[in-house]
Amino acid sequence: MLCAEIVAIGSELLTPDKTDTNSLWLTAALNEIGIEVKLKTTVGDDELRLEETIRDALSRSDIVITTGGLGPTEDDITRKVSAKALDRELVFKEELLEELRERFRAYGYEMPETNRSQAYVISGATILPNPNGSAVGMLVETDKKLLIVLPGPPREMKPMFRDHILPKLNETAPEIYVKRKTLKVSGMGESALDELIAPIYTAYKNPQTATLFNKTAIDIQLTAQGKTEEDADSLNQELAQKISEKLGVAVFSTIGEKMEEVVGKLLTQTGKTLSVAESCTGGLIGERLTNVSGSSKYFFEGAITYSNEAKTRALGVPKDLIDKHGAVSAEVAESMAVGMRERAKTDYAISVTGVAGPTGGTEEKPVGTVFVGYAVNSETRSLRLNLPGDRNLIRWRSSQAALDYLRRKILEAGDE
Ligand code: ATP
Repeated sequence: MLCAEIVAIGSELLTPDKTDTNSLWLTAALNEIGIEVKLKTTVGDDELRLEETIRDALSRSDIVITTGGLGPTEDDITRKVSAKALDRELVFKEELLEELRERFRAYGYEMPETNRSQAYVISGATILPNPNGSAVGMLVETDKKLLIVLPGPPREMKPMFRDHILPKLNETAPEIYVKRKTLKVSGMGESALDELIAPIYTAYKNPQTATLFNKTAIDIQLTAQGKTEEDADSLNQELAQKISEKLGVAVFSTIGEKMEEVVGKLLTQTGKTLSVAESCTGGLIGERLTNVSGSSKYFFEGAITYSNEAKTRALGVPKDLIDKHGAVSAEVAESMAVGMRERAKTDYAISVTGVAGPTGGTEEKPVGTVFVGYAVNSETRSLRLNLPGDRNLIRWRSSQAALDYLRRKILEAGDE
């Protein structure tokens, strides 16, 4: 398999203000045609460091792609330095200079002399035209290696890669298809999950497995390579099935859906309806549910009852109950869900009450203590959670846990 390396050039990429998005895009495009990216480097506008980086890259990788630093100014050093790293000369191209002059004329300007530098290319390079900017790209083939020099602005770099590099790489790269599959998991910690599934996925070199832990879920990402798309898909499918069997109901989607989409699908399939009473999530569950098109069929109503008084007035939570157990308690969560369900006349209601922090925690109920309430005709339940994170994360995780609780309950009801 061919391996590639990307060098993002530009001092601004080493500041907190600018992200190197070019290499993310390039990595995806290369992976699509079965080329693996083994290393990415970001280098500032520093001649010595850049020369060293390009030389090293060419010594270890089949394909080296640089982006940026092809402009006309003093700090645009890529042209000069990459020629040096290849031990080649820069050659002046009269026709490029003419094209540059013409480009400026078309906009009603005289070309500034500084742009003359953009008419120099590495000796022996194939010139890659740039209809969207002044800097042409270059492709240099040295014994069995490819150096591809692209401009920095994504709107110039992407079409150049698509139109001139992809066809070339498709010729050289063996026919390999790369396909991804993501399993979304909820209600488990990352290490508990890995303990369960590592014995399964480590037995496979292809697909490769990566576990990504984000704020609302764990994604298990499978990447398979095959001689055809079907081959790659079926390799992913085989491993996905084994992992899903092991994790059971904790896997909430194998096709990349969000939790609210999965819940919406289950409610639609079973013809059931839902209402939501929220305290610390402040409407987040309602917002997530209503983000799904068609949700009006099953999601009837939500209430944000933030104060104790609102919980009593809008949902009928007895004042005594709040006084006795506190607003953040199993009893109040359950009473919120029951009150919401009765008033909205839905099949299910879920509720959330908790301490999102950073203030308001106590020894008994520290920040992150959250109760999820659940009510259906025959059953009222609640769940206590101790969620880590800042205020935002606790609110997100609460909303996820409440939706996940409902999802599990609907699945249980379907199994009975
Ligand atoms: P130009 O001829 O337009 O100056 P260039 O090849 O010299 O092109 P740079 O000057 O290095 O490119 O960068 C121009 C702009 O392109 C930057 O301001 C930045 O917005 C964007 N850019 C450069 N490199 C990247 C990168 N790796 N990821 C995302 N954007 C980038």
